[in-house]
Amino acid sequence: SHATPSGRPAEIDPDKLDPDALKVIHRLLSHGHQAYLVGGCVRDLMLGRKPKDFDIATSAHPGEVRAIFRNCRLIGRRFRLAHIYFKGGKIIEVSTFRANPTELDAANGAPEVETGAENGEEGNEAEESQDLLITHDNVFGTAEQDARRRDFTMNGLFYDVAEGQVIDYVRGRRDIDERYIRTIGDPEIRMREDPVRILRAVRFAAKLGLDIESRTYAAMEGAVEDLPRCAPARLLEETFRLIRGGVAAPTLRLLSALDALKVLLPPVAAYFKEHGRRGQDTFYAYAEALDRRVASGEPLDDAILLAALLVPIAQTAPVVESQDPAERPSVAQAIEDLLAEFVQSARLPRRIAERCRLLLISQRTLTGERRRRTGAFRRHPLFNDALIVFEISVEATGKYREALEAWKRGELPPLKPSEGATEAGG
Ligand code: ATP
Ligand code: MG
Repeated sequence: SHATPSGRPAEIDPDKLDPDALKVIHRLLSHGHQAYLVGGCVRDLMLGRKPKDFDIATSAHPGEVRAIFRNCRLIGRRFRLAHIYFKGGKIIEVSTFRANPTELDAANGAPEVETGAENGEEGNEAEESQDLLITHDNVFGTAEQDARRRDFTMNGLFYDVAEGQVIDYVRGRRDIDERYIRTIGDPEIRMREDPVRILRAVRFAAKLGLDIESRTYAAMEGAVEDLPRCAPARLLEETFRLIRGGVAAPTLRLLSALDALKVLLPPVAAYFKEHGRRGQDTFYAYAEALDRRVASGEPLDDAILLAALLVPIAQTAPVVESQDPAERPSVAQAIEDLLAEFVQSARLPRRIAERCRLLLISQRTLTGERRRRTGAFRRHPLFNDALIVFEISVEATGKYREALEAWKRGELPPLKPSEGATEAGG
C-alpha cells in the first residue's frame, strides 16, 4: 500500500542514489525478497541533503542475505545485520525487517524469531523461539512493522527504487514537509522504552534544522529520569555523535535545559553548578569553537573532541585552600580525577581517557604556564593534536594568540604565570 498518489512528482532524484546500494537492492529483488532504502538516507534525500550512508531493509533473513552475497559478513549478536563490502572500504548495511518487541506482546499470533544459529536460519525456529523470546530483541516482522519500530516519523520512510516511490507507513512525509521531529506512535511510550531517543531528537533537530513537535518534546522531558537506565555505552556513543556532528553547542544547551547533562556529562553538569552563568558562557564558547572546527571538515578523533570541551573545566580545577602545598591538588591530579570520574560514571573507554588526559595536561605547556623540554615536547606524537586543542581554545577565548603564533613559528611562547590551581609536585 504505497501512500504516494500516482502522478505525484518524483520526491527523490534517482541520480542521487548510491550505485552499490542499488546493486544490493536489485540482487535481493531478483532472489524474490523485498528490499528498500530506509532510514537516514531517505530522510536526507527528501530534505535535499547528501546522505552519509545508504541502509537497506529487506524481508530476507540474515542467513539468506549472506547466501546471496559473497562480499558479506553478519555482525551483531542480538541484532544481526549484514554488512556488504565494496571497494574503498564502503559498507552497505542490510537489516531484516523487524518488529518492535513491545508491540508484539500486545499482538496475537506467534512472532517469528531469529534462531541465532550460524547455519540454516529457516530450520527450527519454532523450537528455539521460546528461549529467544526472553531476550525480546530480534523479532522479525513485516515491512510495515519495521517502519513502525523506528524512532521518528522522518526515519521510518522506505524508498522503493524499482517503483521510484517513497513508502510512508508512518506519516513521515508530512512531518518532513512541515519540518517536525515526531516519534512514531505514542511519544510517552516511545521515549520511555528507549530514552536514548532524547539524544537522537536533539541531534536531528540541531543537525537538520527541524523543530521538535510539542508532545514529543514533553515526552523527552518526562523520559530524562530514565536515562540512567540506558546502557552507558549507548549513551556515550550518542553523546559523541552530537560532538562529532558539529552540533555540540546547540545540543548540549538543549540537553542542559532538559537537565540531562548530569547523566551524560557529569563533570560538565558539576561545572555549571559550581560556576553558574559565567562558567556556562565559557563552556559554550569552547563548544562553539569546536563545532566550527568540526564543520571545517577536518576529522578529529574522540579524545581531541572531548579534550576541547573539557579545557575550561580542567583549567578551573578545584583549588583547595591550604597552607600546606602538599594538600593542594596539582592541576595534573585534578585532570586525572576529572577523567577518572568520566571513566567511572559514563564508562568512557580508558584509551580515550588517557589520550584526553595527556592533551589537557599539555595545554599548560602550550600556554607557557609550564616550561618543558620543548624539543622533546614538539617531537611527541601528541604534539600536533595538543596544538589543535590549543587552537580551539584560542578561538574560543581570544587568549594566548601570541603563544600560538610562537609555537607555529617553531619558537617558545612567552612564559606566563599560572592561573587557577598550583602545580604541586607535577
Ligand atoms: P545519521 O544520518 O545521523 O546516521 P540515521 O537516521 O541514519 O542518522 P542511525 O543511528 O544510523 O541514524 O540509525 C539508522 C536508522 O535506524 C534510523 O533512521 C532509525 O530508523 C533507526 N534507529 C536508530 N536508532 C534507533 C532507536 N534508538 N530507536 C528506534 N529506531 C532507531
Ligand atoms: Mg545512519
